[in-house]
Amino acid sequence: MDMADKVIGIYLGAKDVLRNPGYLEALRDRLGLNLVILGFSGEIPGTVRAQSPFGTHPVSEERLHELLCRHVDELPSYGTPRPGVLDTQTLCIGPNVAEQGSDAELRAAIAVARKAGVRVWLLSGGWTVDDFNVLMYCPSEGATLNWFESLYTHLATDYGVDGLDITHARYIMTSRSRGLGLCACARCARTAAQHGHDMGQMIADLRDAVVRVRRANPKHLVEVAGHSLGPMDLLQFLGLRPGVLQWFELRCRLMEHNMASLRDAVHRSAGPAFVFGTDTYPASLSVLAGHNHRRFGEFSDFASPLLSHVDLFPMETMVVWGQWLMARQPEICESDALRIACRLAGYDALDMPDTIADFGFGGRPLTPDWRGEDDCEWRHNPLRAMLRLDMAKARLYLPDDLPSYPISQGGGRATRLAPRDR
Ligand SMILES: [Zn+2]
Repeated sequence: MDMADKVIGIYLGAKDVLRNPGYLEALRDRLGLNLVILGFSGEIPGTVRAQSPFGTHPVSEERLHELLCRHVDELPSYGTPRPGVLDTQTLCIGPNVAEQGSDAELRAAIAVARKAGVRVWLLSGGWTVDDFNVLMYCPSEGATLNWFESLYTHLATDYGVDGLDITHARYIMTSRSRGLGLCACARCARTAAQHGHDMGQMIADLRDAVVRVRRANPKHLVEVAGHSLGPMDLLQFLGLRPGVLQWFELRCRLMEHNMASLRDAVHRSAGPAFVFGTDTYPASLSVLAGHNHRRFGEFSDFASPLLSHVDLFPMETMVVWGQWLMARQPEICESDALRIACRLAGYDALDMPDTIADFGFGGRPLTPDWRGEDDCEWRHNPLRAMLRLDMAKARLYLPDDLPSYPISQGGGRATRLAPRDR
C-alpha cells in the first residue's frame, strides 16, 4: 500500500457489512471509499487463548486486580470498589477481547469488502478498556503485553487483511481526572527506575503540586491567568517539582515502548508492508493521555487524529479541570477557573464557554448514555475552531513523513455539527 494515498475509510462491524449489501459499493462510488476498518469479532484460537493473562475463564476478581492499574492513592484504577464495576471485564477472555465471536461472519464480511475492491483493516483495543469507569490494564505487566502480541499477530496473519488499527492504546481519557494518577504499581515503579525515575519521588512531587495549587494566592493566580498563563509561567508561579513532568513523560514512553514492540512483532509475522497503528488523542491534551505526537512514527505506521468525542475529550476536560480548581480554591469564580483550564490546554485563544452551564452538560458527568444536550458541542462551544486547532497541532507535531488519517467519527455519537456546518 502506498501510504501517500488518500485514504477514505469507515469503521464498521461485520454484521453492518453483511446486513447492508451494496453499502460499501455505494460509498466507494459516491465518496471514493477505499478502506473498511472492521471491528474484530472473530474467534480466538486456543494457542492465543493460552496467552491470556486472565488464567481462568471467567477471570477471578483477584487476578483482575493484579492486572489492572493502581492509582497513586494505592486504590484500584477505578477507586473505591463498587458492585458491577468489573462486569464488562469478567465477560472477556483476555484484556479487550469478548468471549463470543464468529469467524465465519468476520471472514464473510472481509470477502464482501474485497469484492468491493476496498482494503481491509481490523480494529482491536489496547490497555484502556473502560474510560467511564476508569478501567485500565497496567502497561508494565509483561503477561498483558504478551497477550496483545499473540492477539495482534493472530489478527494480522490469519484473516488476510492489510492492516491493524489499535484503539485505546493510551491512558484514560483526560475528562476522568482519576486516570491521570495511573499507574503507580510495583511493576510501573520498576519501569520508572529503568527510565531513571523514582516512583516514590514522582508521587511525592504530584502530591506536592496539588498542595501548591491549594495554597496558591487565588488573586495572584487569577491575575497571572488574566495575562497569558503558559506552562512556563505555571512552573514558576507554583514552583512545581520535576516529578510532575517526569510522570507524564514516563507514561508516554511506556506506551511508546509497548506499541513499538507490538509493531515489531506484527511486522515480523505479517511483513513490513502490513500497516499497524493507532488513533491519536486530541493534540492539545494528548501528552496527558500517553500520546506524544512527535514520537508517533517510532511505534505507529500512521496517526489517526480523533476529531470525534469533542464533548467527552476536550469539553468535559475543561469543565472537570475548572471544577477541580474551584474545589481547591473556593475564592476563584467559575469563569476564572474555566479560563485557567482553557489556558493550560491551549484553548485560550478560542471563544470558549465561560460558565459550566454553557458547556451544555446540565451539571452532570458525561456517560455513554448522557452526552450532554443535543447541541452542546456547538451552541456555545467554538466547535470548528477547536477542531481546526487540534488538527493543525497534530499535523505540526507529527513527524512530517507520517501519514495522518483524521477520524471524523469513531464510535459514540456523531459530532454534532450545527445545521449550517453539515
Ligand atoms: Zn502499573
